[in-house]
Amino acid sequence: MKKINWNEYFDNYKMTFDYHTHTIFSHGKGTIEENVKKAIEQGLKAIAISDHGPGHLTYGVKRSDFPLMRKEIKELRIKYPEIDIYLSVEANIISKGNHLDLKEKEKEQFDFIIAGYHYGILNGYCMQNWIERHTNQKELFGKKLMLKNTDMTVKALYENKIKILTHPCDKGRFDIEAISKACEETGTWMEISTWHDNLTVEEIKASQKYDVKYVISSDAHTVNRVGSYRGGIKRAVKAGLDLSRIVNIERV
Ligand SMILES: [Zn+2]
Ligand SMILES: [Zn+2]
Repeated sequence: MKKINWNEYFDNYKMTFDYHTHTIFSHGKGTIEENVKKAIEQGLKAIAISDHGPGHLTYGVKRSDFPLMRKEIKELRIKYPEIDIYLSVEANIISKGNHLDLKEKEKEQFDFIIAGYHYGILNGYCMQNWIERHTNQKELFGKKLMLKNTDMTVKALYENKIKILTHPCDKGRFDIEAISKACEETGTWMEISTWHDNLTVEEIKASQKYDVKYVISSDAHTVNRVGSYRGGIKRAVKAGLDLSRIVNIERV
């Protein structure tokens, strides 16, 4: 196989926005302003602050903090007019209710919502998924658990307006075909994370048969990672993905 000159890709493409970054309001290390300044330094046109949804038992944003974040972003928009700053949230996919850890009324305070599956929530088969991932018993709970994981994810996609499905197939077994189809039908972007391993090359290969768009995200929990995208391009190229399907990179 011909050796790929990655630098050629990295010189030819740049990231235009990063919609998945964390701050001290959940378990990130930077402030909102520090993330914004780093995004400007990286040449991004937009950034979203998307801290963990309130249902996460250890990392979740306190519900009373969202208005404070909104206020801070309002001020930063004036201070840094060269970049668009959005208030988002990385909601948790759960097995109950509307399948997100946000009440209907709460959704209105965000510019848009992104969502993913995490451990550390009350309803979402966390213990079973964690055991399978962290022990040698890879399919201990059988096909049933995979179907339940997939079902709650697909339902979350149809029942809510979600802009990005974050790190699909991470932290459990999921049916990538069913999830890709739901993303196609709901117009949800599938994330290629430069922090998590998912989507993997194989998962990108499986999902690209569907008419879905992709977005590369840093999932930065530290300021220096805001705008990280190169690993995402690598994985996309290895999977043979048409790079024009990634919404947030452009040719220089
Ligand atoms: Zn996440
Ligand atoms: Zn995240």
